Amino acid sequence: MSETKAQYWKRRGIRQAALLIVGLFVGVIGTRYWMSRADIDGASTKGASKAAHSADPTDEHGHEGEHEHGTGDEHGHDYAGEHGEHEEGVVRLSPEAVKTLGITVVEAAPGKLEKTVILPGEVGLNSDRVAHIVPRVSGMVREVRKNLGDAVKPGEVIAVLDSRELADAKAADLAASSRHALAQANVERIETLFSKKIAPEEELLKAKQALAETDIEHRTAEAKLHALGLTQEQVESLHTEKDTDYSRYEIKAPFAGTVIEKHITLGEVVNPDTSCFVLADLSNVWVDVTVYPQDIPQITVGRPVNVLATGISDPHRGEVAYVSPKIDESTRTGMARVVLANPDGHLRPGMFVRADLVLSEEDVGILVPDSAVQTIDNQTVVFVEEHGGFEKRPVILGKKSGKDCEVLSGLSPGERYAATSTFILKAELGKGEAEHEH
Ligand SMILES: [Zn+2]
Ligand SMILES: [Zn+2]
Ligand SMILES: [Zn+2]
Repeated sequence: MSETKAQYWKRRGIRQAALLIVGLFVGVIGTRYWMSRADIDGASTKGASKAAHSADPTDEHGHEGEHEHGTGDEHGHDYAGEHGEHEEGVVRLSPEAVKTLGITVVEAAPGKLEKTVILPGEVGLNSDRVAHIVPRVSGMVREVRKNLGDAVKPGEVIAVLDSRELADAKAADLAASSRHALAQANVERIETLFSKKIAPEEELLKAKQALAETDIEHRTAEAKLHALGLTQEQVESLHTEKDTDYSRYEIKAPFAGTVIEKHITLGEVVNPDTSCFVLADLSNVWVDVTVYPQDIPQITVGRPVNVLATGISDPHRGEVAYVSPKIDESTRTGMARVVLANPDGHLRPGMFVRADLVLSEEDVGILVPDSAVQTIDNQTVVFVEEHGGFEKRPVILGKKSGKDCEVLSGLSPGERYAATSTFILKAELGKGEAEHEH
């Protein structure tokens, strides 16, 4: 790409000698003739070099004729030289290539530089969001609707039992209900007789007493149905004769989640001590982070945490919810628990993760991820999207977090730069320059 100083001075010497000859020529022929002559010369020379250049078989770049830089060129382009039309340090890629190579382009912007400590952790179930599903009645399994790993919606029926216990309870309620209705009618009848002085007051009091007793009996029967898991609506549908399948007992999901255990088979008899299913809400998990003794004083509840794992491209962010007051006797380490949203299900219980605990945050003018920064010829650079490609741009970095770094100069807010897979751009640039022979 660049020529040595010796070559430059040699070239300059030749050029000056040529100028001297031209100068002599001018003296003989005259100014006007030389002016037009030089114009023609310059044009033909430039055209010839350009033609030779594009015919170069090793040259894979699509060169553009014009140069977009201003006169104060800070990018170190060769202006005076033979190929001012050539963009040095630019990698051109098609939009498809950018996509398939995993290069993401983002705008330079202010951000928070986080000082973090990197600790190992393990994903576990959120115990507050795990349910052991036990039937409230004994019965025979009539239907099993869900399998291991299936997702369930809140209130969804996951199994159906045939329960004599439930049928008995429903029958008891219906009997109590009709006794109550009878007692009610009896009170009304005696009230009429009493008002006509046909029945004595004593008889009315006895009827009212009976009514109160049947009312209690009926309420007790309904309370038992509620205890078996029936809603008020279901109890009412029993009285309005919408429910005629008295032995049918539905096991329902208490919340949205995933079936992580199943101990129920068609035809078997289950009891209120059988855990038929274990349901876990994996949209929310715990990560238990191992904290080394030297870090323990800095780990407090509420500290932000970025959780990363191999195979997961997006960090999941949560915060420390609990710090164990104890030190593990065998490992001599502490434990911090992070409650983490896991809406995409990327974090699976049992998975080992890396937890970046944020110890402090600082606002910086421009923040770029480490993945955006490359070193080329002892220069720290980022790749800025311009000139129809990615151009390497020297930058001066400030503070570093181990994940991101502050850019002190070289990159302005709003400029678009490659944030990921920039090693590919570096390699492409090296390749282009190696193949080039100017
Ligand atoms: Zn070239
Ligand atoms: Zn009832
Ligand atoms: Zn994710």
